[in-house]
Order: sequence, then structure tokens, then C-alpha cells
Amino acid sequence: MENKNPLKKSHFSDFLNPSRIVFDLQAKNKIDALDELLEVLAQQKLISNKKLVLTRLIDRERLESTAIGHGVALPHARLDSGHDIQVVIGRSQEGIDFEAIDNQKVHLIILVVWNPSIPGLFNHLFAGLAKFLRKEKFRQSLFEAQNKEELYQILSEITLLFPQHEEKIINRASLLWKLQEITIALRKTNKEKKKDLQEQANMIRMELDEALVDRFDRLMARYGYAVAEVIDGVCQSCNINLATSMSSALDGSNDIFVCENCGKFLVSKIPEKK
Ligand SMILES: [Zn+2]
Repeated sequence: MENKNPLKKSHFSDFLNPSRIVFDLQAKNKIDALDELLEVLAQQKLISNKKLVLTRLIDRERLESTAIGHGVALPHARLDSGHDIQVVIGRSQEGIDFEAIDNQKVHLIILVVWNPSIPGLFNHLFAGLAKFLRKEKFRQSLFEAQNKEELYQILSEITLLFPQHEEKIINRASLLWKLQEITIALRKTNKEKKKDLQEQANMIRMELDEALVDRFDRLMARYGYAVAEVIDGVCQSCNINLATSMSSALDGSNDIFVCENCGKFLVSKIPEKK
């Protein structure tokens, strides 16, 4: 997606502090690891209700693993009060099972607690981190860090771009797809299950940009669905071949595109859940 807004450059160091890096996590499983990292924030009085934040992190993991592959996970939860954004980092030599899509154990956890009043900030931070962490060379240097200071230095170098104006928000298409699945399921669900689904839907809505959610709701109301899969370059909603450039940009991307013909949000073919 083109972005003509002037971008403000920032570094990940703005969000980091060496005292919030756990170089050698003791935890052996996902929940213990999240708990261990939250304890750091609690000790520094950056969160007041650790139990609540932990519950939110776990709920979010249940919705969709935050492991982005290649040994890295970005668990996150919103927090209604306090600071804008808090980051705590954990490294595990042995690795932790995060139910990652590539089945690889996670060696680096970047945990983010963010305030929902500024979803744009969170989305850009997330996108910026993911972009860096997709680079093998960069990941390698992270995994090879010998101590906390080295790890801090390498992470500090991550460059982040934030728009001056919150117009174009980078988002995660898989979440939008999930929101559609849940919204459709809600139409034909009994009362007991409804509450659970509604909570999941709310969680996704909080995480996505508001303008995007508005557009999603309008499409859902009008057509009954809002997100279309792209298979072999063809929009499955209107059966039109997409421009090759868009089709290739979409491939493997988790950014959100819109079909120029039918206006639906586009996602590349969703892999079947095993
Ligand atoms: Zn279309």
C-alpha cells in the first residue's frame, strides 16, 4: 500500500530499557514465560493488575498464536490505564512452545502492553518489529547475543516509522478474516457460546484500527461478508483477476488490501487449521 504521509522515524530504543530484558528466562512453557515477563513490569510498578494482564495475554494467544515464526513471538495485551506502551523482552536458550505456525520453538519474546486509546501506535510498532524480525540476518544477531547488553544494543537498532497523521494504519489481515468468521458464527450461535464469541470479536476490534472496523461493519451489513480470499490471483468475491502487482504484494503478506472491483478486503488464501 502506498503511503504518502510524512513519516516520523523512531527507534525501538525509545520503548526499551535494559532493566526490562530478561536474558535467561526460567520458564519452560508459554504461560509461565508470560508470567515471568509480567512480573518484571509489576516489580517496576508499570502494571498494577498482573493477573488481569496475564488473562488478557492468554486470551489473545487462544485467539491466534502471536508467534510470528522463526523463533520469535510478540504477545500483547491492551491495558485500559497507565502508560501508553510498555515493552518487556525475554530470551530463552532452550526455547518455548508457543504453538507457532512453523512449529518452531520461541527463543525471543517481545511482550507489549498497550493502551487502546492509541491503537495506531501499537499497530505501527508491531509492523515495524515484524518487518525487522523477518530478516534472517537480524534474527541471527539477536539469537547470538552473548548477554543482556548486547541484546539491548541490537534491539535498539530497530527503526520504526510512525505517520505524523493517523491515516493509514498497517493491520493484520488474518485478524480481519477471523473477525468475519466470528461475526458469521454469531448469527447462528446459541446463547451460551455467544458470550465467548462476542468477547473474541471485541478483542479483535480493540486491536484493529477504528476506520478499518467501521468499513468492515458497513460491508458486513450490506453484503453479509467483508473479507474475500484471493486464490490464484482471483478475488473470490467478484471473480475478477487482480492486477499482478497487487496479487504478488498480497502473497504471504498480512497487510490489508482492498479489491479495486468489489471493494472487499482481500486476504491471501487462508491455510487450513489442522
Ligand atoms: Zn473483488
